[in-house]
Parts: sequence; C-alpha cells; structure tokens
Amino acid sequence: MRKILETKKLLQSIISGDVLSDKEILNYYSVDASSYQIIPKLIVIPKNKKDVINVVKIAKKYKISVTARGAGTSLVGNSLNNGIILDLKKFDFIKIKNNHLKVGAGFIKGKLDEILQKSGMFFPPNPSIGPYCSIGGMIGTNASGSRSLKYGSMIDNIEKITFVDGNGKKIMLPKNKKIGAKILKFTKKLEHEKFPKVTKNSSGYRLDSIKSIQDTHKVIAGSEGTLGIILSAELKIKSIPKNRVLFVISYNSENDAAHDCASILTTLPAAVEFMDKTIMKNISHKFHRDSTCLLFVEYDSKQRNIQKRLKTITRGNIVKTLKKDSEIQRWWKFRDSSLYYSSKSIKDKTLHVIEDATVPVAYLPELFSLINKINQKYHTKSITYGHAGNGNIHVRLISNGKIQSIKKIADEYFDNVIKLGGTITGEHGDGLARSEYVRKQYGSVNYDIFKELKNQFDPGHILNPGKIISHKSSIISHLKF
Ligand SMILES: Cc1cc2nc3c(=O)[nH]c(=O)nc-3n(C[C@H](O)[C@H](O)[C@H](O)COP(=O)(O)OP(=O)(O)OC[C@H]3O[C@@H](n4cnc5c(N)ncnc54)[C@H](O)[C@@H]3O)c2cc1C
Repeated sequence: MRKILETKKLLQSIISGDVLSDKEILNYYSVDASSYQIIPKLIVIPKNKKDVINVVKIAKKYKISVTARGAGTSLVGNSLNNGIILDLKKFDFIKIKNNHLKVGAGFIKGKLDEILQKSGMFFPPNPSIGPYCSIGGMIGTNASGSRSLKYGSMIDNIEKITFVDGNGKKIMLPKNKKIGAKILKFTKKLEHEKFPKVTKNSSGYRLDSIKSIQDTHKVIAGSEGTLGIILSAELKIKSIPKNRVLFVISYNSENDAAHDCASILTTLPAAVEFMDKTIMKNISHKFHRDSTCLLFVEYDSKQRNIQKRLKTITRGNIVKTLKKDSEIQRWWKFRDSSLYYSSKSIKDKTLHVIEDATVPVAYLPELFSLINKINQKYHTKSITYGHAGNGNIHVRLISNGKIQSIKKIADEYFDNVIKLGGTITGEHGDGLARSEYVRKQYGSVNYDIFKELKNQFDPGHILNPGKIISHKSSIISHLKF
C-alpha cells in the first residue's frame, strides 16, 4: 500500500495528466466486456507522450504493472490487471493528407468512419462492436471483422506504429532499423510449421507475418499491450466500394452451410458470415420453418453472373439479394448484433472462453462437429455465429453452471482446434482466457522465442503481465460472478 501511495504522489508531481485512485473509478476500470474482473490500484490518464514515458519508467522502478486501455470492449479480459491502468483516451488526434492517415491510439473507430466517409474512404477492419472501440485497442488485439476476408485484419492494414516500450523508450517501427534487425533475428529461429494455417490469428506474437524490415511494426499487432504502449499509428485507407451486393442464403443444416463456405470462396466474396437459428430468430423476416442457419455473402466489386454462379454452388436457398445501401446496412445490423442476441437469450451466467477459434475453411464442418461433441459430452448447448469465410466461429456456450467444466471444455476444444491447423483465437486475443494455451498453440521452441521477444521489449515484465506469456492458469480466476 505504501508503495502505491508513493508511486501515486510521484506520478502526480511529474505528469500533467490525471492520476486517480477513488474506489468508484477503480471499480469502473476493473471490468471490460468479458466475464472477468480485476481491481487495479491506480488509473492514469496521460495527456502526452512524456506522461506515458514517465509512467512506464516509474512503474518499472517501483515494479508495478502498467496495462494500456482503449475503450475496454475486449471480450476475454485483455485490458484488466492489478497495477496501473493507462487510459489512452486523450491520444485522440487525427491527420489526413493525400490518402495518408495518422491517428492517436485513443481515437475512436466510429469517429474515424464518419470522417473518412465524407471523403469517400474507409478503414477496412470492422469489429461488430461498430463505432465503440479505439485504434490502440484494435491494434492490441489484432481486431478484424466481416470484411477481413477480403481486406485482412489490423495487422494487414497498418503502415507504422509509434510506441513506448517497457524501458520507457519511444520506438517507431518499421523506421527504427536497429530494433527492426533484432525483431528479424527472432523470426529466423521460428518453427513456422507450428503456426496455424489460417487467414486470421490473434494468438501469441505474430512474428510469422514479418518477412522483411518493412514489416517489423506487425510485431505490435495482437501484442495486447505486453510489448509497448502504442501512442499512434499510420493506417492504410481505401475508397468505399460502389458495387455492393449482399446475398442472404438460408440452410436446413449447419453442415451444408459449413461445407459450402470453401466453394463460395472461389467466387471471391468480400464477406461470408454465419448465423445459427438463435440469431436468425431476431431477424425481421419470415424464413422457411425448416431453416436452421444463414450465410450472408457479400461482394463489393462487380462480378459477372454472380447470382447464377452462387446458385450452382450452394446447397442452400438464396432468400434475399440486396443491392440498395440502406437495405444492405439494415441486414448487416442483424449480423452485427449477434453477440447481443445471444447474450439476451442466455439466462445463466456463463464464461465465454472458447468463443473465437478459427480453423482452415475446409475444416469448418469438423469444427461444427467438434462443437456438437462438446455439447453432448458436457451437457451444454451453444449459440454460434461468426466470420465463416475465415473459418472463425464464435461460440456462446450455455453451460450447466459448473464453472470447473469450462477448463476441461477449453482443454479439449483447443487441443482439437490446434490439431485441425487452427488458432485458439482468430480476433479477440489471448487475454485471461487463453494465454495459458499459447505454448500449446505454438510449441516450446516458438514459445521460448516469444519469451525472448518479451524480455527484449519489456525486461521488467511490467507491461500487462500474465497476458500471452503466462506462468499460471487464469481461465477461471478473476470471474465476475
Ligand atoms: C459486442 C462486441 C462485438 C465485438 N465484435 C468484434 C469483432 O467483430 N471483431 C473483433 O476483432 N473484435 C470484436 N470485439 C472485441 C473488441 O471490440 C475488439 O477487440 C476491440 O478492438 C478492442 O478495442 P478497445 O479499444 O475496446 O480495446 P481494449 O479492450 O481497451 O484493449 C484491448 C487490448 O489492447 C490493449 N491496448 C489498448 N490500447 C492500447 C495501446 N494504446 N497500446 C497498447 N496496447 C493497447 C489492451 O491492453 C488490451 O490488451 C467485440 C466486442 C464486443 C463487446
């Protein structure tokens, strides 16, 4: 306690931002959108780069953890910890020049969308949370969304990142060639065959995506604030496509929908999204009573005879072909509300930990049969929806209330996902729910390289400790209920 009081006093005397520790504010920052809760000791809202550097240096000296926080919409406790929470909301500047965009880490996605739309541009990664997440948080989890099938995740849409490492040193990547060379050295030792064979992955450190010095900023994408505090980023933006068409396809079996995905991908859609019966029930449309699930298939560039081609491929029924922007947006709202629809239909308190796995698309039918097997074995039910085109299915498990079985379920589910060449998390990150599985995901050789990388950027292990590199199980600790 004395250490915290001393740290608070020192911080208040040095930094120009706020340093807070009222009970109410600590409670506010003790939760995010997950099932977890950890009460922090201090909240710091830095005003500028110098504040961030000073916080990190003081935290290192006093051995107190520092965890960056954007909008706190993480789903697996990524932004929760027991030391200092650093809220980057004042880093909200934006500069746009000649299709070149630089934003502060605290800039909110919704504001970015509004500004870009006025000049006919957009930033592709689009988490279903819509406007509410921050750029720093999106980089932190390597967020993605429905359009990531065509445009990639955050990692594919960033040009430069400026951050402060665990020594309090400001680094710009890929500009800093000396640090870049060190990162490249780590990549040379990787066992690449142990990395998942998927189109999106938010587990561990994405060293696999770094092919040259120009890619070295990618190490920060998905690093969950464990390697550095992001101050700003330069992002790739694109022109808003003019030829969108959305097909709604209904199926009588999940297996048929899962099998269709791989063939639909040959027609180069921008998005292929899956929704099960629970989600469907919330859509204001009368589907055939035998329908059990839907695929949304969207194209955003002209494709010849696309409806005809889709008809020959699909085992389902095309029930809607939408071309008007307002109608397309109305239907996407149903998909984007899937998490809300699933939560409101679940009465029991349930821990969502196997909610984000991703497999090669060809193995989607196997993923659905794995989910069914888990349900039978553990007497659970599940609601499923997600980015099927990427093999990324969100699972909301309705459990029998026995929290202990969650760990067994996660062990079995993740084992099998890894065997299928998949990742334990396609977009929400490792957080408290999955960090203990990172070694299993990548094998000991790669995991040890991850540890070396962590030591390189954060030798005092003060940056969001316990996430990605983890020494104890946290999957069922820190539960809110
Ligand atoms: C209803 C709902 C729907 C969602 N849909 C999607 C979806 O479709 N796709 C998807 O990918 N995610 C989705 N998410 C998850 C979440 O919204 C995203 O992960 C989002 O990008 C997190 O942003 P945030 O600003 O809230 O970050 P936070 O929750 O504040 O932080 C996320 C992580 O990033 C780190 N971080 C934050 N800021 C910084 C910084 N400046 N420097 C370093 N590290 C930092 C944190 O420490 C933490 O580890 C959804 C969440 C909800 C509640």
